[in-house]
Amino acid sequence: MARILTAADKASIAQWVSDAQYITIFSHQSPDGDAVGSSLGLANVLKSIGKDVTVILPDELPAFYQFLAGVEEILFFHNDKDAVLDAIAQSDLRFYLDFNRLDRVGQDFSQHLLGYTGNSVMIDHHQQPEEVAKVLFSDTTFTSTSEMIFQLVSQMNWLDHLNLAAMEAIYTGVVTDTGSFRFPVVTHETHEMVAFLLKRGLNHAKIHQEVYDTQNFNRLQLTGYALGQKLVYRPEKKLAYITLSQEELNRFNHQSGDTEGLVNQALSIGGVDMAVFLREADEPGIVRCSFRSKGDKDVNLFARQSWNGGGHKNAAGGRFYGTLQEAIDQLESLTA
Ligand code: 5GP
Ligand code: MN
Repeated sequence: MARILTAADKASIAQWVSDAQYITIFSHQSPDGDAVGSSLGLANVLKSIGKDVTVILPDELPAFYQFLAGVEEILFFHNDKDAVLDAIAQSDLRFYLDFNRLDRVGQDFSQHLLGYTGNSVMIDHHQQPEEVAKVLFSDTTFTSTSEMIFQLVSQMNWLDHLNLAAMEAIYTGVVTDTGSFRFPVVTHETHEMVAFLLKRGLNHAKIHQEVYDTQNFNRLQLTGYALGQKLVYRPEKKLAYITLSQEELNRFNHQSGDTEGLVNQALSIGGVDMAVFLREADEPGIVRCSFRSKGDKDVNLFARQSWNGGGHKNAAGGRFYGTLQEAIDQLESLTA
């Protein structure tokens, strides 16, 4: 782990970018602000350098990230597989951002990424990375992959190419992955980066408004329902959790991203040290899981051991194979 790229890695990246004509950037399934922000941040810098760049995501983005410049050119594997495979075939340099195991792009899609022997760089801040790229820039002390992109850009001397589009994307990723700068992982370097972006003309208030103040009525009603009717509080276990079925999600015309942040509301109860959100996935038989914790409580471990997932010590995710009720039963018994 290193917050600074080695001289050898910098030399490789400089050479590969210089040689590459067409660059692809990949991020994880159910893309969040950091996945989109780091991808578009880097894409906009590389475009400014003069490269052809395509961002490829496994599936759809929440509506509240669609203001970011370059979103309209993103290719999605779930609805445009041919274009994605074509881009992969043509690309002569790959960046893997905000994930560290190939299966995080989804089983189907990962099959098309396996076995590649060309130039590749993985940039990520999760624990226990797989060795799947030629250069690995991995460090769990960073707030976000977006902050790492800023580091990459400054360490590679590409700051002249950090245009407004790239700054807005990077800032979005940092804001969303830090709960608006509140998590312990935030450092003075994070704030120094923000100061730099503000000096360069970033409008931070615009970003917060786009991400947090553009909810539709259904989403707010769904949040009200989840907190009012579905929040389970187990003070003796210091646990709070929320579960939602497909039927409940459909009742509120659920869109991608509508339940983002719900699990943090459950965690905000005083005395609770772990909050869980379980949501029936679109695919039958799968429950998507989100875990948040305070202090020393390690949800990365919990997600890895019992929920086919992982993440960070205080924020992790995973999936459960079975019904929603079986997932609830497992949660209750594991926390007994
Ligand atoms: P969220 O609860 O917001 O979906 O995810 C929280 C954190 O856990 C994120 O940093 C995310 O990258 C990670 N995470 C979410 N789902 C999974 C998963 O299925 N596997 C792994 N390894 N990490 C996950
Ligand atoms: Mn991230």
